[in-house]
Amino acid sequence: MDYSPTSLNILAHCVRLLVPGFTVRLHRWTPRGRNSKLLSMNRFRTDTHFHIDQARAPKRVLQAAERAGIRLAAPSMNPDSYAEIRRLQAAHPQALQWVGIGLHPEREYPDAEFLRACRLVEQADVVGEVGLPYYDRVVTRADVDRFATFCRLAAEHNKPMMIHAVHDVAYMALDFLCEYAVKRAVFHWLKADVDTIDAIVDAGYFISITPEVTYRERDMQLLKRIPLTQIVLETDGPYAHGGPYAGLETVPDWIDEAARVVADHYGLSWENWWRQHEINVERLFGVPSRSHEA
Ligand SMILES: [Zn+2]
Repeated sequence: MDYSPTSLNILAHCVRLLVPGFTVRLHRWTPRGRNSKLLSMNRFRTDTHFHIDQARAPKRVLQAAERAGIRLAAPSMNPDSYAEIRRLQAAHPQALQWVGIGLHPEREYPDAEFLRACRLVEQADVVGEVGLPYYDRVVTRADVDRFATFCRLAAEHNKPMMIHAVHDVAYMALDFLCEYAVKRAVFHWLKADVDTIDAIVDAGYFISITPEVTYRERDMQLLKRIPLTQIVLETDGPYAHGGPYAGLETVPDWIDEAARVVADHYGLSWENWWRQHEINVERLFGVPSRSHEA
């Protein structure tokens, strides 16, 4: 019988249509070869960007992630979103490892919310989701000033950043990261021209790849420019995806679908890919301060 990740994912998609929240533990079916020792060492897979408080049923998503051995880094939309994610983390500490404080740049927030977010930077694991708007608004002076402040605070407190800045505004965001000497950052679900992608890589920042890489040429071209040591995976769930994912609720184990393509691109076995990925994740976000070892 064919137990390849591809056939299992197609099967999982079909079952998910019937049973919302269904997940498979794909790594369990991975053929055990000479890398089986690495598989047992590599206990986690990480979705580096999942808006858990925005999910229809956050607890169900977290329980499924726990069963699948997936840990999450969760950005927040604003301070209230951050508080909700911290509440979820108290009940699901193993699945929810890193929590970010941010103000989603596509939304508008009053100054009071911005100041609340700034005060939370010191206690947060990550500064994010922050950045510059592109889809829903044009960049204003206030957007630029707020992003500069988040960069300054991240640098002062040595926090990693989750950056939302695509296309025309990605280079501007990179400029601020460099100006404030932010040490660790990921450009999440990046879309940008080749020069900007190369500049982000040269500056040493991470770039995330989503399941879109399984069906979209643009993401495949992006992947080709990212060194193995500067890539991380994310779903941006529950934000909906297109292509074969249209109409489905985005869940963290979709990182496995991106991983198939990415591991193949780098010529790595499933086990070695995840081993490298988790090294990248901990270089980006730091080793979780709370101990959740089973
Ligand atoms: Zn996001």
